[in-house]
Amino acid sequence: MIFEKLSTHDHEQVLFFQDKSVGLKAIIAIHNTVLGPALGGLRMWPYETEEAALRDALRLSRGMTYKNAAAGLNIGGGKAVIIGDPAKDKSEALFRSFGRVVESLGGRYITAEDVGVNVDDIEYIFQETAYVTGVHEVHGGSGDPSPFTAFGVMQGLKASLQRRFGNEELGRYSFAVQGLGHVGMKVVEHLREAAAKVFVTDIREENVRRAVDELGAEAVSLDDIYDVEADVYTPAALGGTVNEHTLPRFKFKIICGVANNQLESDEVGDEVERRGILYAPDYAVNAGGVMNASLELEGYNKERAMRRISMIYGNITSIFEIAERDGIPTYKAADRLAEERIAAMGKLKLPFRPAHPRWERP
Ligand code: NAD
Repeated sequence: MIFEKLSTHDHEQVLFFQDKSVGLKAIIAIHNTVLGPALGGLRMWPYETEEAALRDALRLSRGMTYKNAAAGLNIGGGKAVIIGDPAKDKSEALFRSFGRVVESLGGRYITAEDVGVNVDDIEYIFQETAYVTGVHEVHGGSGDPSPFTAFGVMQGLKASLQRRFGNEELGRYSFAVQGLGHVGMKVVEHLREAAAKVFVTDIREENVRRAVDELGAEAVSLDDIYDVEADVYTPAALGGTVNEHTLPRFKFKIICGVANNQLESDEVGDEVERRGILYAPDYAVNAGGVMNASLELEGYNKERAMRRISMIYGNITSIFEIAERDGIPTYKAADRLAEERIAAMGKLKLPFRPAHPRWERP
């Protein structure tokens, strides 16, 4: 049953670990390492069944292969899950035990933060292994990814405007931003700096007030965001907000945002295309955070991070070009970009990868 699951999406390896003394039950899924070591976050979740945990690890690790490849990184896709309740099952010993597990893989898998895991937990992991990103700045890590993700989203927005209108001057267009959290608020800030018209909504009243009072955005109600007469819809809260109920209400010309899994289904993605709305694929637009963190592997440097993230403009443009070349919707073209890159790099002879200085420490 396991091999059948692995072969469905061509996973390379899945590892199961337990450490009874600390209550650790973990799964690490390594989907693809053609481009480099498998990188993807660690999720801690009270999965109801082991099967559900395995399913999540398989699904999420495959997603990371595509995200890392489309971002142009020399990194493969992986993901880890710990079965447990982050509200009550966390301990230093648990994360240090997990750190030893990661260390034992010798760099085939590199871990990071995901749902249920925070920077303090990462610090425990870092005590046992250097194969971890998202480490606190005091340890030479890259810190909070949100401003970098927001900077990447700005590249995606400009590439989309250029494609749709032949002009990328932000100030000439209007935007509907759903969710004013770590990334959404920063995107609004960038947009307002460029004098763009921005409509905002959030379930947290104080966030809306801040965007209105301090940044000059215009507030709309939670549901009205889908009816706003704006050029661009920027989801920055939840997934699945482009669906059969919301899409018929859209007057937007572009969908380009931060949230993961914005399209509820492939059918919705096809309908977006049919309606002539340009969709900038979520995982390619919101890759700034992972691009930033991945630089920790080579020795972190902010200038290099910004330069790397500015490449999202070119990545999104390439996706639009592939969609046109092959006559496919843009959400499919993102996957194709990733697959073509993996196939091309897989043919390289004599693969060479310099060692990370951190890994060379005694
Ligand atoms: P966040 O939790 O800081 O912000 C989310 C905001 O959305 C909050 O202010 C919340 O109140 C609001 N919200 C929740 N439900 C809402 C609703 N129904 N309508 C309107 N607003 C609602 O998260 P974030 O770090 O800003 O990330 C936003 C999204 O982007 C998430 O889906 C996240 O997975 C994704 N993402 C984030 C990053 C990153 O670097 N932080 C990277 C890639 C993807």
